[in-house]
Amino acid sequence: MISERVMDAATITSWMREIDVAVRAEKDHLVQLDAAIGDGDHGTNMVRGFEAVVQALDADGGSPPGKLLILAGRTLVSTVGGASGPLWGSALRSGGRVLGDQSSFEGAELVEVLAAALASVKDLGTAAVGDKTMVDALEPAVDALRTRLGQGASLDEALDAAGAAGESGMRSTIPLQARKGRASYLGERSVGHQDPGATSTALILRALQRAARAT
Ligand code: ADP
Ligand code: MG
Repeated sequence: MISERVMDAATITSWMREIDVAVRAEKDHLVQLDAAIGDGDHGTNMVRGFEAVVQALDADGGSPPGKLLILAGRTLVSTVGGASGPLWGSALRSGGRVLGDQSSFEGAELVEVLAAALASVKDLGTAAVGDKTMVDALEPAVDALRTRLGQGASLDEALDAAGAAGESGMRSTIPLQARKGRASYLGERSVGHQDPGATSTALILRALQRAARAT
């Protein structure tokens, strides 16, 4: 039997650091995307939020992975004013609760963490695929991860498929008319622009692949 690579608290810390680096590098792009169909703060929101998350995790003294996700989620809620703060905040808290107090987890449990995160975003924001939101990137990614692991792919292969599905979902938002969030106020004028939240979600998914590789 092929041994499944095990993830732990270091994987979560590494994931949050990778997100911090990625949203910092793409901050201007995220700001431009949000300036076109929102209020132009998405890049700033994500950078502020994940900078605070990394600080909070640095100050933590050895919590298990689930508790680190809950801490990260709580930190996002308290530092990000825009919609993305409460949405990703509740997503990470819900994902963290799946892991309870266990010190490590495998691919199948990662699927459950991300599925709980997605369910939380959909519950709070009431968006479905096609509404031009972060759900358009997150849902196909969770589906791809589950499917590829079920087919016996390695964790890295499955996370690569999830990353690609997230990027494809991100691009799929371009022709859509926004039905949720600030962009929905623009009606038809939201068509032709890539959703900022779906774009940062694709970055968050690729960050997860890098973090799992490093574990
Ligand atoms: P705000 O819209 O409050 O300025 P941000 O700019 O940080 O917040 O985030 C905007 C992103 O949040 C959007 O691009 C979209 O992906 C996501 N979003 C907004 N509303 C919802 C919702 N109801 N459900 C899911 N995602 C949403
Ligand atoms: Mg905004």
